[in-house]
Amino acid sequence: MAEKVYVVGHKNPDTDSVCSAIVFAYLLNQWKEKGGLIKIDGEAVPVIQGEPNPETKFVLETFGVSTPEIMTDAEGKKIALVDHSEKTQAPDNLDKAEIIAIVDHHKIGDVTTPNPILFVNFPVGCTATVLKKLFDWTGIEIPKEMAGLMLASILSDTVIFKSATTTDMDKAVAEELAKIAGIEDIIKFGIDLKAKLSAVEGMSARDIITRDFKDFDMAGKKVGIGQIELVDLGLIKDRVDEIYEEMKKMKEEGGYAGVFLMLTDIMKEGTELLVITDYPQVVEIAFGKKLEGKSVWLDGVMSRKKQVVPPLQKAFEQV
Ligand code: MG
Ligand code: MG
Ligand code: MG
Repeated sequence: MAEKVYVVGHKNPDTDSVCSAIVFAYLLNQWKEKGGLIKIDGEAVPVIQGEPNPETKFVLETFGVSTPEIMTDAEGKKIALVDHSEKTQAPDNLDKAEIIAIVDHHKIGDVTTPNPILFVNFPVGCTATVLKKLFDWTGIEIPKEMAGLMLASILSDTVIFKSATTTDMDKAVAEELAKIAGIEDIIKFGIDLKAKLSAVEGMSARDIITRDFKDFDMAGKKVGIGQIELVDLGLIKDRVDEIYEEMKKMKEEGGYAGVFLMLTDIMKEGTELLVITDYPQVVEIAFGKKLEGKSVWLDGVMSRKKQVVPPLQKAFEQV
């Protein structure tokens, strides 16, 4: 039997990781029919590494697309990665899998391959933006629901074009996709999405921290950085102490040198960064501001990958 190709985004999947897996799997299957660059035998199937968040669920429901199955072990499988190229964010046993393609928009991680593969990485706001360019390049038509998934991913990742990661390409691609998806008011659609993520009632502190949480290796130290985007930080104010205690627990349990949580205010366009670390001086080195108790307000900071990871990485190299 022909071997399936599992298309998968990062752990703690966000809308881009789920939707880009679905869209890239679709693209690979269509491309195969046209005798595309990648010769896959079996079908490409989207999978995810964990439950989709409320924003992603809303997107899948809106466009009538079913939720991919969960897959957390890559051993012996053919794999295509989207939205990451870091082993810590990939399924387990990636070293025992065959990676056939990577489509991403992050810094290049530590995944390596013995053979040449399709590797497409643009410094843009979203994996879906890269995928749209692959549709253009291959001449494959974009169905309405695929356009909707890609548009939602772009609005999610760029925080409705407010994040520093946003490029002109993301905006232009979003306009084109909105026409295909039949979305008239892009900004309103974006706010509808983000409102779903702001609903934290009923969630445990651990769930709030880990919903969008990534591990990094910074100068040999294990660092975890989570982010929660809110339309108003007031929504979470009375839970901050409880969340901070949980971050302390996570730090001990996980052997982290630091656990950081970005409480990002979409409307004020800044981030209250909660910090628990053995090296509190990294905050001043990275951001030019001292910790005030548990946290520090970083005006204009909305992007983990562009405004938090690089300066922290440099700071951890100095301590
Ligand atoms: Mg992502
Ligand atoms: Mg992304
Ligand atoms: Mg994100």
